[in-house]
Amino acid sequence: MSKLSTKFFAAPALLPVLLLSQLQQDTQGGIGNQQLNEQSMLAVNWVQQSGEYRALTYQAFNIAKLTFDTAKSKNITCPAIIVDIDETVLDNSPYQAGLLDTNNGFEIITWNQWIKEEKAKAVPGAVEFVNYVNKNGGKVFFISNRDEKSAKDAKSNDLEIATINNLKSVGFTGVNGQTVLLKGEFTKKIDGKENTSKQWRVEAVKNGNADGKRYTVIALIGDNLNDFDETIGKNNQQRRDHVDKNRSFYGMFNITKGIVKPAYIAIPNPMYGNWETGIYNPLIFKKQSPFDMTPGERNQQRRESLNQWFGK
Ligand SMILES: [Mg+2]
Repeated sequence: MSKLSTKFFAAPALLPVLLLSQLQQDTQGGIGNQQLNEQSMLAVNWVQQSGEYRALTYQAFNIAKLTFDTAKSKNITCPAIIVDIDETVLDNSPYQAGLLDTNNGFEIITWNQWIKEEKAKAVPGAVEFVNYVNKNGGKVFFISNRDEKSAKDAKSNDLEIATINNLKSVGFTGVNGQTVLLKGEFTKKIDGKENTSKQWRVEAVKNGNADGKRYTVIALIGDNLNDFDETIGKNNQQRRDHVDKNRSFYGMFNITKGIVKPAYIAIPNPMYGNWETGIYNPLIFKKQSPFDMTPGERNQQRRESLNQWFGK
């Protein structure tokens, strides 16, 4: 996780809904973190209990397999697939569920503890797909905003080791220090500041810096629009417009004049994501960023953003 930026909506992709709760412990209007956590109960149950969730993840990985097979049939050289990790190939819903009945929000300390326990299970369909690609002439890279530097006591690459261990333990092949690219690797200096966007890690896969080979990225798979391209700082209207504008990329790669534009393949995540920060307009409360908003203010804007029908 990057430090919470003062830039409007500059939330890193990984940051859950509940991260927002960590900054304020007020109970304005009777709403505290615990009340916000309660609102996630159905979403977490949907991920953990519903057949529909599994149907959608299988559907996504079936489309991904079809995409890969199509790329192979078109003789695309060195095809690579890039997957996000959290809520794309690993299921962290127990961490989210654990916040219920507490007044805790997402906190980097507890999140890193969860990562280090290496207990996440695989998202349905992910292992079969990744291993199919790796076995059939392709390569899968895991690009995640798990952040080594976020651990205050970070002395080693223990988060990367734990992530690799967890991925291996649930059955993923091709998992190593070159294919697992966490936040902080392949950054770019922009205006003197280190930029940690995923796009530089995608570039590293393409230009040979990741593992020495130059790959053609044919698909990006993720639960957050930021896994596909840069939508940080956009509100939900802008995010929806962005998706509408790029509708032809969902589930299909394009080749134009020999240049491959990768397919975007989405995994459902109703528990957290930048779609949540996209709800908020902190300026209404004279705040700089959603992270400055109180639970009461966030609750108010969650409610006000609903399209409601009240009957007659
Ligand atoms: Mg994710």
